[in-house]
Amino acid sequence: MQEQQIIITGANGQLGTELTAALRVQYGGGRVIATDIRQPAVTDINFRLLDVMDREALGQLVSDTGATIIYHLAAFLSASGEQHPLQAWDLNMQGLLNVLEVARETGCRVFWPSSIALFGEHVPSAYCPQHTVTQPGTVYGISKAAGENWCQYYHNTYGVDVRSIRYPGLISHTALPGGGTTDYAVDIFYHAVRGDTYTCFLAAETILPMMYMPDAVAGTIQLMEAPADAINIRTSYNFAAFSFSPEQLATAIQKYIPEFTWRYQPDFRQRIANSWPQDIDDRCARSDWAWEPKYGFDDMVSDMLSAIGARITR
Ligand code: NAD
Repeated sequence: MQEQQIIITGANGQLGTELTAALRVQYGGGRVIATDIRQPAVTDINFRLLDVMDREALGQLVSDTGATIIYHLAAFLSASGEQHPLQAWDLNMQGLLNVLEVARETGCRVFWPSSIALFGEHVPSAYCPQHTVTQPGTVYGISKAAGENWCQYYHNTYGVDVRSIRYPGLISHTALPGGGTTDYAVDIFYHAVRGDTYTCFLAAETILPMMYMPDAVAGTIQLMEAPADAINIRTSYNFAAFSFSPEQLATAIQKYIPEFTWRYQPDFRQRIANSWPQDIDDRCARSDWAWEPKYGFDDMVSDMLSAIGARITR
């Protein structure tokens, strides 16, 4: 089997922090290079500053290190993208095209995350299918829809082995989320553990698809290790674990912290959430590369509370 040499872009973010740690365990620290435009919080990883908008620097790093896989995570997210639409389009599109071009030239395999944000309001909200109409209502969603088609184009036209997952909202306790519409589902835990009232920026009954980070990381590595001929979808795979509303999450937390209080003050992110499906049909991922989540909603809530509780004393 080929020895892998891995580069991660945007490695200091919510997903990259945990994916970097898992890839270091899987392949060995010497085989994983984390990159970002910001210095990392930790010093014990192999790290380089890299702006994905600089295609030459990316190509140089790939050839200097003999990289075989690029996990390309650098992006503007859904909520911050609405605040800076043209910058979001530039980073999300040009960054991806730079990675795909370098992969075309060097033969690297590529992982690139898409999102449930690509669907838009004209999809079935319940059990949203793999293949459906996509008319996203945000710049972020538009960039994910276009990006998926670029990935498929580079695969079909140039043979680039690019693979992708449509992540739901990711819930984690290591790095804080970076400006998405599902960030409330992380923030609420910190408020509850600190003893603060939480003001939720989505309405009580807004049900969205979510996943606990250990499953997202495990599924991502599983997809990237699957044999190429098992990958039948070169746009991006639907990927699901569980769905819940803010009210369901707050009530579940209150079972552990009875004095926890919360209120609702929906803002511009409500419109974004309203355009997303409530749950996702991920049967293609399950049948093509044996995807199966390990964490249910209750497992996630109790794990988040004990991990955050162990770090924060009230
Ligand atoms: P994040 O915002 O937490 O991290 C993004 C990282 O990219 C940051 O560390 C930032 O410094 C870095 N970055 C920004 N501009 C850069 C540039 N020009 N060059 C290099 N690095 C740059 O994002 P995340 O939550 O870790 O998301 C990673 C990927 O997963 C994104 O593509 C996102 O769209 C996708 N995704 C995330 C979620 C989620 O819930 N977190 C859901 C769906 C999809």
